[in-house]
Amino acid sequence: MVTTTMACRAGLIASLGRIAERGLPNEVVGVVGADEVGVACELVNVEPQDATAFCASVSLDAIEAAEDELRQRGLHVVGHFHSHPRGRAAPSRADSAYITPDRALFLIGFRDGPTPDVRCWARGHGRYPVELTIRIIEGDDGVLA
Ligand SMILES: [Zn+2]
Repeated sequence: MVTTTMACRAGLIASLGRIAERGLPNEVVGVVGADEVGVACELVNVEPQDATAFCASVSLDAIEAAEDELRQRGLHVVGHFHSHPRGRAAPSRADSAYITPDRALFLIGFRDGPTPDVRCWARGHGRYPVELTIRIIEGDDGVLA
């Protein structure tokens, strides 16, 4: 069964938007962790080696270190994120190839103005991703950003 929703703390969505805004005009990259019941709740921003509006170069080691940081907080890695400073919060062709069956992709886009648009994608039946409905879970989010 393909998952159609992603439960997220409201604070996580706000933090994704803030991090992407702070990174402008460049792309930002990071990982997202979920709690024991699968609610996406925290993120770790990965400092890129180099970044432009269209690309952020991060090493696999840096991604793995960020994932380890989430695990040390008692979370599991539920996905990755990056921003599209000049584009929509929809997967590019390269993003589509990158989405794995066990990780969601959170995208933050600015195509429609200065307010960040946060969307979540998962691998579909074919190679093209499906958008997950973000279900906001209110409460103590504990998001660090
Ligand atoms: Zn992308």
